[in-house]
Amino acid sequence: MRLILLGAPGAGKGTQAVNISQKLNIPHISTGDIFRANIKEGTELGRKAKEFIDQGLLVPDDLTISIVKDRLNKADCEKGFLLDGFPRTIPQAQQFDVALKGMGVELNAVVNLDVPDDVIVKRMAGRRVCKGCGMTYHISSNPPKSEGTCDSCGEQLIIRDDDKEQTVLERLKTYHEKTEPLIDYYEEKGLLLHFDGTKDIMETTSEIIERLLKE
Ligand code: ADP
Ligand code: AMP
Repeated sequence: MRLILLGAPGAGKGTQAVNISQKLNIPHISTGDIFRANIKEGTELGRKAKEFIDQGLLVPDDLTISIVKDRLNKADCEKGFLLDGFPRTIPQAQQFDVALKGMGVELNAVVNLDVPDDVIVKRMAGRRVCKGCGMTYHISSNPPKSEGTCDSCGEQLIIRDDDKEQTVLERLKTYHEKTEPLIDYYEEKGLLLHFDGTKDIMETTSEIIERLLKE
């Protein structure tokens, strides 16, 4: 299956992506994770991306599209993929359509997680991520088994630099301006599936999987 996960920052895309990609056995591709890995490794791409990420702005379309195209060319994407955090602008979506056409494949569905801004701001304040593998937790709604430590790899949990309240508000503004129009874009193509992202994590995963398998 070829899928996109759409939603505001903090809507739960990464959390759902881990569950969905496991259940459907397709690779989880997060542009945010790719940028963070590049920042950690100190690459040129990471240096350029960090300037924008730290301000709550989007990384320019040309840089973002080229990393996605490279990733989709890898062999594991032949069985499908789950994109998390891409596309985030109309030009990204348009160029992605061209790339899909070139690959001779079509999207199956776009999963939209709907979460109001006030819930997002509260969620982001409690988000913790693993320094090692990037796994996401929440101090109250999705805590690790042992405080401050990743269940999956045992590394330390940290607060993302861009999860400061001021940056979160900036990211939400960017989302409403640049990314929210994608809801209509994919609705018009008949691909959009809506989900209430305020429900429990596992309940949301079950609803998404059930619906996708019906499509
Ligand atoms: P995104 O990838 O969309 O930015 P995340 O998956 O990182 O969002 O989720 C943001 C925060 O909210 C994390 O701390 C995560 O553990 C928590 N979270 C995700 N889904 C839910 C949910 N359904 N209910 C409560 N908290 C959630
Ligand atoms: P995320 O982990 O999805 O919240 O992404 C973290 C940050 O990376 C975002 O706030 C953006 O600055 C940048 N980013 C991730 N994906 C994209 C994208 N598709 N287009 C532009 N910037 C992106």
